[in-house]
Amino acid sequence: MKRLLILGATGSIGTTCLDAFRSSLMEDTVIAGLIAYDDSRIYDLKTEFGVPVFLAKERTEEEIRTFISSVSPDIALNGVSGIAGLRYSDLLIDMGINIALANKESVVLGGRFLLDKAERKGISIIPVDSEHSAIWHLLNGHKAERLIITASGGPFRDRKDMSRITVDEALNHPTWKMGRKITIDSATLANKALEVIEASYLFSFPPEKIEVTVHKESIVHSMIESPDGAVYALLSIPDMTLPIVSAITGGHSQAKLVRPLDFSTLSLTFEGWDRKRFPMLSLGYSALEQGRSYPIAFAAADEKAVNAFLSERIGFNDIPKVTEKVLDAGWDTEPSSLGIILEQVEEAGRMAEEAICLYT
Ligand code: NDP
Ligand code: MG
Repeated sequence: MKRLLILGATGSIGTTCLDAFRSSLMEDTVIAGLIAYDDSRIYDLKTEFGVPVFLAKERTEEEIRTFISSVSPDIALNGVSGIAGLRYSDLLIDMGINIALANKESVVLGGRFLLDKAERKGISIIPVDSEHSAIWHLLNGHKAERLIITASGGPFRDRKDMSRITVDEALNHPTWKMGRKITIDSATLANKALEVIEASYLFSFPPEKIEVTVHKESIVHSMIESPDGAVYALLSIPDMTLPIVSAITGGHSQAKLVRPLDFSTLSLTFEGWDRKRFPMLSLGYSALEQGRSYPIAFAAADEKAVNAFLSERIGFNDIPKVTEKVLDAGWDTEPSSLGIILEQVEEAGRMAEEAICLYT
């Protein structure tokens, strides 16, 4: 039996994973322990699943490490939200634990440093993000020259007037039910920018070989184009159960994880994305092209700006303004250690707070 530790157990990813256990979809896997931040509902989960639990708020890294080693996991699902996820991924790699990685920020910030370290230690990092899970499956057996990442387009895909967008409107995602940070990122397309950066690092593709297409049905989770021009796609209904269980089982699940598609009613559409209305995706591409610590600054500025928008300190259209201001400062430092990466996060966050004050 594989022992699974779930980080972010009370969140959207954590809950979907626990639901998979409730529906007996996780053959050969047992829950070893659960971690969240400060949500006391974790104690209900402790009772339900009969496993050790841990709340990380105000706990030291040493205490977290001690808890993790006490439950001796073989694999951990990192479903922590935002930049906080990086420290966990780094810790898990240090501790020799394989990772099913939902926390895209870990790869965006940790980049080559994190992935090289995992490789040196023989740790597998299997992506859970649905697009990257699809690409991970498709690359297993095919060579690719280009990656095509699909985007639902979020709640404002067809909205012409992007002024006066409220928090409730931005939180109303048409196809996916997710945590607040990623839902706002989906509305600005910053989520797609983070995913392009994530794909570039995970699969070693340069930005010009990664295309984004808007696919409002969220049925095709991504595609790869092989050298002969053939395009391979992975399709399923939008349900994170598939990529989560797939990552934990290494793609070997025998259980039916999602409802089958009904091809008699299926219609699939693809279109380009609007650079004017969604500047965050352009900023993300440009951060990736510039390399070094630019992707870190992009992610750190975006996170601060999203929190400021959620607490109604700035407007929706100020999110790209804050991010652009931070990126303009120049981020040429090579992110060659966790210490340097965290310094860059701190610095970009401080600059973002200054920029937020300008728009408040
Ligand atoms: P949620 O906001 O729903 O959940 C976040 C979880 O992380 C909660 O359990 C929260 O605990 C926990 N958490 C937050 N900070 C810490 C911390 N410092 N230490 C320990 N636990 C912490 O987020 P999602 O589940 O939506 O997203 C999680 C990650 O997965 C994100 O990186 C997101 O981009 C990625 N992802 C999510 C998808 C989805 O469908 N939701 C799809 C693809 C990727 P508490 O409740 O106690 O605050
Ligand atoms: Mg995704």
